[in-house]
Amino acid sequence: MSKSYSYDLVEWDKPFQMAERAVLKPTGRSVLVKVIASGLCHSDLHIKKGFMDLGERGKLTFEQRGAKLPITLGHEIAGEVVDVGEGVADVVIGQKVLVFPWIGCGNCRACDEDRESDCTSMSIIGIHQNGGFASHVLVPDEKFVLDITGLDPVKIAPYACSGVTVFNALTKVGALREDEWLAVIGVGGLGLNAISIAVGMGYKNIIAIDVSENKLELAIEMGANRVLDSTKLNSTEELINITNGLLYGVLDTFGSEETGSLAVNSLTKAGRYVVVGQHGGDFKMPQVWLPQKAMTVRGSHVGNSPQLRQIIEMYRAGKLKDIPIEIRPLSEINSAVEELKAGHVSGRIVFCP
Ligand SMILES: [Zn+2]
Ligand SMILES: [Zn+2]
Repeated sequence: MSKSYSYDLVEWDKPFQMAERAVLKPTGRSVLVKVIASGLCHSDLHIKKGFMDLGERGKLTFEQRGAKLPITLGHEIAGEVVDVGEGVADVVIGQKVLVFPWIGCGNCRACDEDRESDCTSMSIIGIHQNGGFASHVLVPDEKFVLDITGLDPVKIAPYACSGVTVFNALTKVGALREDEWLAVIGVGGLGLNAISIAVGMGYKNIIAIDVSENKLELAIEMGANRVLDSTKLNSTEELINITNGLLYGVLDTFGSEETGSLAVNSLTKAGRYVVVGQHGGDFKMPQVWLPQKAMTVRGSHVGNSPQLRQIIEMYRAGKLKDIPIEIRPLSEINSAVEELKAGHVSGRIVFCP
């Protein structure tokens, strides 16, 4: 019997522990993927901590959201199909695939319309079912493994979370005119992908905002036209000046009271503020701004399988610039988590088990 291994979260907010078990046998439409690349995402840190900050309402624990320990985290997974269930029709052994982790219940209007991210009973790989910090991952339906033949699994893996998340959010920001500006707040894995994908989608004027000079330099390399250090005094005025008062879209990959305030204070009339970051806290703005400024404030949660397919097509068409990636062995997961938490990671850490 062949073995698989994983690094599991056994206790909330404690280091991951290695576990060994027998390799699972896929049945029905499920697919067994041998992990080649597995990205480390900020949400892995949130999940590991065990709760989210709901501001004045306190905390929402991941147990309340349906997560049970022990669990293998990791939701940016690319690999090779090594076994398939008897009901699998289109996926073959040996195929290189990207795993779509945002699996819905399969039995609601959102799921019927392939809007998995709007499903209220998601069964996410890496939160509700075992994920990619492992040698193998079992994907419950062949629908959720996407062909990446000929592409580098290490470069493709982060699109499964950070890529599809910002793509979904940018579709909610919508198209802008030639002289209008898009601001991307936060230049971590999400923000770098946001800049790359926004350029690929045709956004012309992009300003990146962060607190780290190094990350702002990277933002320029990814295609941002301007950058702003938000620790500087009067950053709101500066943002309005740089964008000539034509800031129509803000994509917030951080998501805190401060970034929310910067966004709604800087947007021009009829602007759109879309939040994907989950730093937490409370969002506050004068109620009358919604009508007076005709403002849209909107959240976006992860993304949908057709969108991930679109991203792979954009990548194949050469429209997306690779974000910086650091490859690590999976055995270094606990030190990598500490580095990411400390803000010392530029781009993405990808584990190769
Ligand atoms: Zn993620
Ligand atoms: Zn559903």
